[in-house]
Amino acid sequence: MDYNFLELADKYYDDALKDLSELIECKSVLDVYKPTSAHPFGEGCAKALDTMLGFAKRDGFESLNDEYYAGEIKYGSGEDFAILGHLDVVPAEGAWDTDPFKATIIGDRLYGRGSTDDKGPVIASYYALKMLRDLGVKFNKTVKLIVGCDEETESRCLTHYFKKHNKPSIGFSPDADFPLIYGEKAFANFSILGSVDPHSIIKTWKSGSRVNIVPDTCAVTLKGDYSKEFNEFLESHSYQGEIKDSVYYTYGKAAHGSTPELGVNANFIMAEFVNSIYNDNFTRFILDCLSFDPYGEKMEINVENGDMGKLSLNPGIFEVENNECLIQCDCRTPKDSQYKVIDVFVRDCANKHKLIYKADHRKEIHYVDPNSYLVQSLYKAYKEISGDTINKPMTIGGGTYAKFIDNCVAFGPTLPGEDNLIHSPNEYIDLNNFKKDIAIYAYAIYELVK
Ligand SMILES: [Zn+2]
Repeated sequence: MDYNFLELADKYYDDALKDLSELIECKSVLDVYKPTSAHPFGEGCAKALDTMLGFAKRDGFESLNDEYYAGEIKYGSGEDFAILGHLDVVPAEGAWDTDPFKATIIGDRLYGRGSTDDKGPVIASYYALKMLRDLGVKFNKTVKLIVGCDEETESRCLTHYFKKHNKPSIGFSPDADFPLIYGEKAFANFSILGSVDPHSIIKTWKSGSRVNIVPDTCAVTLKGDYSKEFNEFLESHSYQGEIKDSVYYTYGKAAHGSTPELGVNANFIMAEFVNSIYNDNFTRFILDCLSFDPYGEKMEINVENGDMGKLSLNPGIFEVENNECLIQCDCRTPKDSQYKVIDVFVRDCANKHKLIYKADHRKEIHYVDPNSYLVQSLYKAYKEISGDTINKPMTIGGGTYAKFIDNCVAFGPTLPGEDNLIHSPNEYIDLNNFKKDIAIYAYAIYELVK
């Protein structure tokens, strides 16, 4: 090692923490996408981008704002090298112990929405870049820290950015796990819609705001008073729920949509109750085809493929209004060849329940050779700084920014075995790890640009 990156990171830590706190205070949750507006993803996302580019300006970096879709902070010369992060965050739903949009330090942890996903890693990468520049390192590549404002929904930010800007030939995205992720599952999202049996007791059904989160709350209004039955049901199954102002609520546990097995979907509990009163096609479909089945076994779409693991299925959004229903599902598959199987099998299940199947967002798998120079260099940086030689580069179900560039992998920040509560209440970043992140990213960039 030519430099002691850990010692250097210590010097930049206080400033990095200050900037991260300021960024967390920008409430960069998408409200409604307005392509005609100067701030297409809303004021919060625009403020986060202004704040980040403000840091770059303050520190003398060249930067650009791509019409509030994304921003770029640049240093060096030669072939483009990308660091892909994002400034938008998922909504702060559920029970937080602190204000999600105020960085709160308790012990070794900093709590706040976006602290780990993805504002913390963006700031760590930024300070890594700044450190190398301040050291006078000669860059043989142009490092572009590209920050998007719409990663959590449809990544329209980078789609927009790459329409006008060339794709860098190599890069990493600090938006997942260490050591690094060289393979990501394909997306095969779909919706189920149609008419609910008119004799159903359901008046309205509402749950979930993002397809990639396991919904922890389900709110339903019913045609009639079933409060006695509901309370008995909750008690006999030890489920969590309540009735407030004639709205029936069930509660589960939120988790990321790529790992539905870690959450409890509140809709499955509600469907069980509603169906126990009247067997309508909507709740019958949920129970027969979706309920407590994170791998798609009930619809026989479950597949498993070597180092890429199992298909995952998260029904993230549920709605019923005026007897019309909608269920939106996040589905990730280890093989792109399964699209056809999903189309045929899920359509069949939907039709059997007098419902309609619709294919949604699709994206091929992303895979970088684990023996490539990029993967080996990043892994070396991780090993040297963390001292962890046990955990190896891997594949996951989560889709990250890495897939925007062919030769790009996801690199940090969550350590093996750590749970930062991303997309859940009380998201945090461990401050000792945050400091290490700056050192790991500095080492990694140095290895690739020296
Ligand atoms: Zn993220």
